[in-house]
Amino acid sequence: MTDTPAVYRGRFAPSPTGPLHFGSLVAAVGSYLDARRQGGEWLLRMEDLDPPREQPGAADQILRTLEAYGFEWDGPVWYQSQRSEAYLAALEILRDAGLVFDCACTRRELRDLAPAGIDGPLYPGTCRNGLPPGRAPRAVRMRVAPHKIGIEDRLRGRISQQLDTQVGDFILRRADGLFSYQLAVVVDDGAQGITDVVRGSDLLDSTPRQVYLQQRLGLTTPTYLHLPVATNPAGEKLSKQTHAEAIPADGDVELLCRTLRFLGQEVPADLAGADPTDFWEWAIRHWDTARIPACRTLLPD
Ligand code: GLU
Repeated sequence: MTDTPAVYRGRFAPSPTGPLHFGSLVAAVGSYLDARRQGGEWLLRMEDLDPPREQPGAADQILRTLEAYGFEWDGPVWYQSQRSEAYLAALEILRDAGLVFDCACTRRELRDLAPAGIDGPLYPGTCRNGLPPGRAPRAVRMRVAPHKIGIEDRLRGRISQQLDTQVGDFILRRADGLFSYQLAVVVDDGAQGITDVVRGSDLLDSTPRQVYLQQRLGLTTPTYLHLPVATNPAGEKLSKQTHAEAIPADGDVELLCRTLRFLGQEVPADLAGADPTDFWEWAIRHWDTARIPACRTLLPD
């Protein structure tokens, strides 16, 4: 799939922690329409990287639900659970370049010691120059240089993050041996030749870390578009943790219409009565990113 790069290659990358909910449908619809509108490919990647958080059967259930809603993906589904060798190889490249270090710190030690960053504690540097005597390595961390990363989001414009003071040395491989989302997503977006990432803005804070890794692994940075995130009435992002309701598994064009409206598209009332084929034909033809609302502001430059 990676030999002749498409002009546009997008993807949807659900984590099988449970069935799809409205928030995941937004990311699926947004990434699908953006790819198809531009005559591009749309790949599906199952981010089954974290077995303790996964629900048995959820990956298959997600695929069946996507099919029932009329999504058509290109090529075989990739499973991150089968990609450990590629993640390990990337980790070794970074290690050879002196860009990672072993870390012995426990979560509790960091909680007590470290100031808060935007995504957990800011690593205080304890193991950066070697493990303290008598301590065994647990995790592997990326050594972050004082560095400001800027990205140009298609919806939000320029976003920047001072990686060392806002995020710090982040984890690439956890103490339980599992690879981190940040490493896996960068390796796979690169290996699959993804040119355009369209996903929820809950991942916006992660993007500078991913760009940093891409730069250090010699990978091309895709274009990004971060969609507004659906929240519940309490303002919390819809997710398994906030008990988001599963979407009906048998496909529902009315719900697809609601998703389009959430994404700011102008949807004719009678589209809800269309069959999935007609719905997608209409939606692809009328997809207009200029209408998408950006409802969260983050780190203006
Ligand atoms: N697996 C992530 C999620 O379900 C999405 C990752 C991505 O799109 O980069 O939230």
